[in-house]
Amino acid sequence: MVLAAALLMSNLIPDVSEDRLRATLSHLATYPTRNTNTEYCTQSAEWIASEFRKIPGMQVELMKYPVKKGRRIVADKEVVQVVATLPGSSQKRVLMGGHFDTINLGGDPMTVKAPGINDDGSGVAATLECARVMAQGSWKNTLVFVAFSGEEQGLFGSTALAARAIAEKWEIEGLLNNDTVGASQAGKLRDKKRVRLFSEDSEKHNSREMARWIEYICRGKVKGFAPWLVYRKDRFQRGGDHTPFNNAGFNAVRFVEAVEALDRQHTEKDTLDSIDFSYLANVCRMNLVALQGMANAGSAPTSVSYDPKQAHSTIVRWKGAPGATYIVYWRSSSSAVWEGSLKVAGANEATIKNVNKDDHVFAVGAVGGVPVSVD
Ligand SMILES: [Zn+2]
Repeated sequence: MVLAAALLMSNLIPDVSEDRLRATLSHLATYPTRNTNTEYCTQSAEWIASEFRKIPGMQVELMKYPVKKGRRIVADKEVVQVVATLPGSSQKRVLMGGHFDTINLGGDPMTVKAPGINDDGSGVAATLECARVMAQGSWKNTLVFVAFSGEEQGLFGSTALAARAIAEKWEIEGLLNNDTVGASQAGKLRDKKRVRLFSEDSEKHNSREMARWIEYICRGKVKGFAPWLVYRKDRFQRGGDHTPFNNAGFNAVRFVEAVEALDRQHTEKDTLDSIDFSYLANVCRMNLVALQGMANAGSAPTSVSYDPKQAHSTIVRWKGAPGATYIVYWRSSSSAVWEGSLKVAGANEATIKNVNKDDHVFAVGAVGGVPVSVD
């Protein structure tokens, strides 16, 4: 069974509810399509917004943006998506989202059925559920929960929000994009134990370190379930709503189920019966571990460096907020994941005994924050 208690790291908040996940997806299944070109897109956005409005403290916005006639847009149009904000005491933002729009590539977008229950009703249900859970704690940073539209036409909603984040100078710790996270089976292939976590490596942002950190803090939190790190920006020749944020220089990663039901995707067969609610609940728990960390993250360290002297032990130094606690992480240079860490309170240097900088990689992060590698 799931160790719900293990999730309660910093605040006493409850576990996720499979019943509520099922209720969200059962409602989304009542729309014949949520294609961005149709009125059902607006109707479902309004319903999602009404669900966010039921959460105490949540500030809910139907964000409008224009799209132009093009490859998958039948006419110029103003589109809506949902941005729900839970204000913290800090301006720093932590984002989670999924896209509520759907597509069926097999017919007229205005009339063909496109239930999109897994792609990406599952990510929207997860986002709404994590918002309900997080709203029951109190957090330093501001949490932003997004139901994107226009994803299937070319990531239009996430592109509009990333541009707004730049224009409004948002400080973003990271975005957790959940897209197609509800099924554990495709034909005879099954994987109930992992959710893939895609991350880009870049000079512009720190998304790979965000993914590596999520894997590390999720260890042991949910018995028999873990993120599976994929060191790519997305699946082969495919993309998602994290990418415009990456392009804008923000940390952003994508969760996607381990085995995708490719024969159901973008067809009228993407229906409720494909969803494994215990799997989807575990994906929510991984998001919650990351959200709870980032929701209280302090300032990232700067000027992270080694003491240059040759030695078997490694001295790491950084600049940080006075009196704050930081965490030093290390791994063998050939390991893709962190192998050890040390919490350091009220100091700006640490000695890691018998771990040599010649053959290890080090990073330093605020508690709950995305670590910064030593240059
Ligand atoms: Zn999708």
